[in-house]
Amino acid sequence: MTNGEKKDHKIWIISLFPDFFKAFLETGLSGRALKGERESGLSVHLVQLRDYSSNSYKGVDDAPYGGGPGMVMRPDTLQAALINGVVGPGGYGPDWKEKLHVVFPGPRGRVWNQKNCQEFSQSAWGKNGHGKDLVFICGRYEGIDERFIQKYVDEQLSLGDYVLTGGELAVMAIIDSAIRFKPGVLGNRESFQKESFQGGLLEHPQYTRPRLFEGLEVPEVLLSGNHKKIEEFERFESIRVTQAERPDLLEDL
Ligand code: SAM
Repeated sequence: MTNGEKKDHKIWIISLFPDFFKAFLETGLSGRALKGERESGLSVHLVQLRDYSSNSYKGVDDAPYGGGPGMVMRPDTLQAALINGVVGPGGYGPDWKEKLHVVFPGPRGRVWNQKNCQEFSQSAWGKNGHGKDLVFICGRYEGIDERFIQKYVDEQLSLGDYVLTGGELAVMAIIDSAIRFKPGVLGNRESFQKESFQGGLLEHPQYTRPRLFEGLEVPEVLLSGNHKKIEEFERFESIRVTQAERPDLLEDL
């Protein structure tokens, strides 16, 4: 089957704190899409890492070899969660590596931006993409054992040059932004085409009612009904805001 024909796309999330995702999966546009609404074909499956611990006290981490602060997530527990919590229940069979794309968000990964996000979305869900279901691994503590990355991780992604306490927030940001590019998830009204970073610019400022707010008027041209003039104005404003706030983006145009 090619990705173009694949209708159902599962997203698996291995985490020590699946509760983190409750509101995310219940709320707003992304919540609806992740429940399979809006013709998304998406479903999310949370896997509690602790359930796959091999010891009686349900530990999933241990002290780092070589010493140093903090704890490291054990590769055998992560492997058990992947095989027994994802591959088995998902029915992926012995050739599961051909059917799953394992993503580990962490500071060392490729930095997430709108371009990478669109590419990621197209390769997961686009017609000519890899068509594999996604598995996200949420790191905690000092991170995860390197050997699990070597053996099982296909892609590492970073939210930016700072350190989060855990991967859950990163996974939510990655999924939330990537599904916006999946056909059917955004309607025309919410299309991503005119959003910031599409075409290399920030979006123009937006206005709604009331027309006068604390002495500030909505720009006259937006009330004119002249679509050409409005488009020109919005383009001009887009460039002005980008120049003022993110001149680095203009260098890449
Ligand atoms: N010791 C690690 C280091 O210095 O690179 C940081 C570990 S961090 C406290 C715990 C987990 O949070 C990481 O394993 C990763 O899953 C997640 N995380 C932290 N920063 C992140 C970032 N910038 N992007 C994505 N995930 C991040």
